[in-house]
Amino acid sequence: NKTSSSNFIKNIVVEDLKSGRVQEVITRFPPEPNGYLHIGHAKSICLNFELADEFKGKTNLRFDDTNPAKEDTEYVDAIKEDVQWLGFHWDELRFASDYFEELYNRAVLLIKKGKAYVCDLTAEQTRELRGSLTEPGKDSPYRNRSVEENLDLFARMRAGEFKEGERVLRAKIDMASPNITMRDPVLYRISHAHHHRTGDAWHIYPMYDYAHPLSDAIEGISHSICTLEFEDHRPLYDWAIAECEMESQPRQYEFARLNVTNTVMSKRYLKQLVDEGIVDGWDDPRMPTISGMRRKGFTPEAIRTFCREIGIAKSNSVVDERNLEHFIREDLKLKALRTMAVLRPLKVVITNYPEGQTELLDAENNAENEEMGVRQIPFSREIYIERDDFMENPPSKYFRLFPGNEVRLKHAYFITCQDVIKDENGEVVELHCTYDPATKSGSGFNARKVKGTIHWVEASQAIPADFRLFEPLILDESKEEDTSFLERINPNSLQVEQGFVEPNMREAAGGDKFQFFRHGYFNVDPKDSTSEKLIFNRIVSLKSSFDP
Ligand code: ATP
Ligand code: MG
Ligand code: MG
Repeated sequence: NKTSSSNFIKNIVVEDLKSGRVQEVITRFPPEPNGYLHIGHAKSICLNFELADEFKGKTNLRFDDTNPAKEDTEYVDAIKEDVQWLGFHWDELRFASDYFEELYNRAVLLIKKGKAYVCDLTAEQTRELRGSLTEPGKDSPYRNRSVEENLDLFARMRAGEFKEGERVLRAKIDMASPNITMRDPVLYRISHAHHHRTGDAWHIYPMYDYAHPLSDAIEGISHSICTLEFEDHRPLYDWAIAECEMESQPRQYEFARLNVTNTVMSKRYLKQLVDEGIVDGWDDPRMPTISGMRRKGFTPEAIRTFCREIGIAKSNSVVDERNLEHFIREDLKLKALRTMAVLRPLKVVITNYPEGQTELLDAENNAENEEMGVRQIPFSREIYIERDDFMENPPSKYFRLFPGNEVRLKHAYFITCQDVIKDENGEVVELHCTYDPATKSGSGFNARKVKGTIHWVEASQAIPADFRLFEPLILDESKEEDTSFLERINPNSLQVEQGFVEPNMREAAGGDKFQFFRHGYFNVDPKDSTSEKLIFNRIVSLKSSFDP
């Protein structure tokens, strides 16, 4: 197990263990089950699990399920699957909803201490009285309700006597605080939605700023790591733990949220893409979700290395998506079988090759990793080559096939283009070539050299396949910054080519990964591919400069 690279949170942990503030490192990953996890969550997962791991501590998976209207068990299941697929094992599986009774009792304690009150202002009125950065807030007219009245109203809120939005429970802190978060924040709101675990037992639900610190304390979390936008909430985090008289004293630390170029990273936006049918579900290979990346062909190793290598920052930045591509290439380079696929086929007839004859040629499985061995591929009079590997009137420096030119067929022979066959519209439909038996690959032939090497697939045994080629789903640079992401959707994000692969790939199963000569790395689509119709998703091209 690799250890996380040095980061500022790790330094804090080292200090805390040395000073005795903590005896054991306990972290948690706290997703809200309102969508599927994305690559930003992977960053947080790696950070929390690897940090605890390094200090022989523990990590809980805690569902932050305090918002019943948006949450669902479908998301709970998907999140569990994704965390496990990334290679992590939680110590305990918890739900914030496990703590509803305790959170309620602590809120009653706050009321009794005069630290919380029931407020009848509308959301709009509350906002108006909250003030701004330059203007202090004003007290709610309900701020000085008696403890008895507050206890009575809060119990009736719980019992479901009031409509949504009619009342809230607020902390009584400081309406003049320079930190707006501390101006009597809402602790509980009314909701009559059905909860995925507690059903209709509750009519009030705790807010994140109240539920989160208390859940951390209940679980004995030592280091509660969250993203930078919660920095202003830290005083409230500490307030809640202190005023609710929690035994355990977790502390909150913030790091910069991960952003990646050419995508969106908020569950709200990702859900919109799913709901509006712009993508084929949360696991569409174009999505930045863990499940989408898995389906596209990313490996857990590549994602974990990416998260580790980009480091933990204290200020927000955007990471170039090419970093992700780099790590998947690195991971697959020595692992993936290197075979040949023709994405846009053009038939070639080798006119001097005996009719009805097939021979088997040796082809190494990975030129950079001998251990992967050798396979045999058929060769005969008819093959497919890539349409782009032929030009009738090529520019200078074009070294692939054109009339009269000779090229090398990878793992096979040299061929020379003799005739171009066209249909009635002038489209090239077939090439007639001749081969030179003396040039067989591996024979040591070196009497003459050719500049171009092209790939091919023997025609009679070739397996038809679809190849899905992807471009970024959302384009960063196409429009001004503040245009809605829906207007920045790339219309060319998915392109499907129909071609052929080598016959030995008949057994390829969902999730198998290959490097196709010159085309890049591909994954057998785990959902749509069948033995009758293979479907490959391109994970990444061979080099980022590869595409024209
Ligand atoms: P979203 O905006 O996608 O809904 P969220 O923060 O509301 O994100 P949660 O389910 O609450 O989603 O997130 C669980 C954990 O993952 C939190 O600790 C959160 O800080 C962290 N997290 C979410 N997005 C990112 C990101 N882009 N980079 C790093 N950590 C993230
Ligand atoms: Mg959240
Ligand atoms: Mg959210």
